[in-house]
Amino acid sequence: MNSPVIVVHAGAGGLSDDLREREADCRSALEQALTSGADALEHGGGAVEAACAAVMFMEGFSLFNAGYGSVLCSDGSVEMSAAIMRGGDRAAGAMAMMRRTRHPIAAARTLLDAPPVLLAGEHADAHAATHGLEQHDPSEFVTERQRRRLERWLSHREQPDRGTVGAVCLDRSGLLAAATSTGGRLGQRPGRVGDSPLIGAGTWADRHVAVSCTGAGEAFIRAGAGRLLGALVAQGVALDAAAAAAMDEVAACEGVGGLIAVDAGGDAVTLFSTQAMPRGEWRPGRAPVVEIP
Ligand code: ASP
Repeated sequence: MNSPVIVVHAGAGGLSDDLREREADCRSALEQALTSGADALEHGGGAVEAACAAVMFMEGFSLFNAGYGSVLCSDGSVEMSAAIMRGGDRAAGAMAMMRRTRHPIAAARTLLDAPPVLLAGEHADAHAATHGLEQHDPSEFVTERQRRRLERWLSHREQPDRGTVGAVCLDRSGLLAAATSTGGRLGQRPGRVGDSPLIGAGTWADRHVAVSCTGAGEAFIRAGAGRLLGALVAQGVALDAAAAAAMDEVAACEGVGGLIAVDAGGDAVTLFSTQAMPRGEWRPGRAPVVEIP
């Protein structure tokens, strides 16, 4: 029996004013995400269920860039992506460019046990609908806060606050899972897909480690960040050193961001090269620990 652990993040980037003003809400959202994951474990779920439950909670919180509250593309639309990976058998499911599905991570999870690994666009939403997942008109995902942020970004090109949410979990049976969900980057070109739904880039889990990344997606893709970290840990490199090496590769690809990871021994790491990365950790018998920034 292993002692379980859940780690979550709510995206690497700057601390925007409204995020600062609502720090208490963000803290409580992260705590509730951890509690949702812990509840899933308590009720017989494994690492996949726990990571998925934690991410679903964060997808519903409007200050995080995932699900409802996602950043807007340059044309004012929302395109959401998510991925989940089960470490034991490296099963993976991912969805890109969803416009209608309330919980992209739940949709990604439906692909875990049968191909394809990745679905995109209207076919991704249609697949989610056939699994009974909640659908909305795309306009319902556009929040007033994100509309104002896009206006400011289009006129001043201010540094976008990146966001994205993720969770990694080790369960009692020693299985690992990673889950990541995002609206992408503020003002992104419609059709752009970042690292979050790409297995081996923003999301990775195997028998040794589970990783969820956030930040400048193009650099995480070019660095193969998640897979790199997994390969280093499999070779016996300590988790901290492997995480640092992966972030060095991201930096070598001119990217900043962050990651969370947990290994099969229950060690966890959170690392970021941006101003802030709201994050939290849960272990049994202890209150969730949340850190912002
Ligand atoms: N990595 C995400 C993307 O590039 C954005 C983020 O994490 O802030 O789409």
